[in-house]
Amino acid sequence: MINRLSTLFELQLIDDELDTLQELRGDLPLEVNHLNSQIQSIKDTVDEKEKEKEEALQTIKSNESEIERLNSSLTKFKAQLYQVRNNKEYDALTKEIDHSEEKISVFTEENSVLENRVQGLKSDIEEVTPQLDELLADVDIKDEELKQIVKANEREETKLSSKREDVAQKVRKSDYNTYTRIRKALSGKAVATITRGACTGCHNVVPPQRQIEIRGSKRLFTCESCGRLLISPNVAAEVAKA
Ligand SMILES: [Zn+2]
Repeated sequence: MINRLSTLFELQLIDDELDTLQELRGDLPLEVNHLNSQIQSIKDTVDEKEKEKEEALQTIKSNESEIERLNSSLTKFKAQLYQVRNNKEYDALTKEIDHSEEKISVFTEENSVLENRVQGLKSDIEEVTPQLDELLADVDIKDEELKQIVKANEREETKLSSKREDVAQKVRKSDYNTYTRIRKALSGKAVATITRGACTGCHNVVPPQRQIEIRGSKRLFTCESCGRLLISPNVAAEVAKA
């Protein structure tokens, strides 16, 4: 039983050290994530606008070649007007001319709308570019800062992580699950001990009778106030010494 309790406390001590290393990173990981998602969202918007712009430019181009084709037909029709032999031919030709002119004006109108849209999209893209550059520079700095911190503690972290793996393997599966659950719920500390009659996790007094039982180390006890696993101070001292 004592082994079961001491491995749990050992695991807690290793996690405390790992937590301290994590804390050194401060808000940097969060900030980097936040910046990256801001950057991604701007990039997505820019991509969408670029795509729309390209499509508009292509339509403009194809409209222009249609206009060109219609104009050369018009020239042809107008030349043919001088060679008509009867009213019927004349009417047919003027109908063709009207029709072509109508189409030209539709394409021209559409192109002018599209050109305005292209200008609008261009200025939208230009507008966010400085903001995007600023965010990119910002994330570069924060990312580098974070890398430096991670690098400075890399060796220690690797050592602790492999030690943790060894210790975690020695912890009973059910205890490990309890440990993980409490650690998650109470942000960090799952195992506490007793100092000056109080739980080291929540600083609430542990009833004297309970203290005696905990010192007996006959089973797993939890703090009545915070729910953390409570380990005898003797066991804790032994683990800390080792
Ligand atoms: Zn407590």
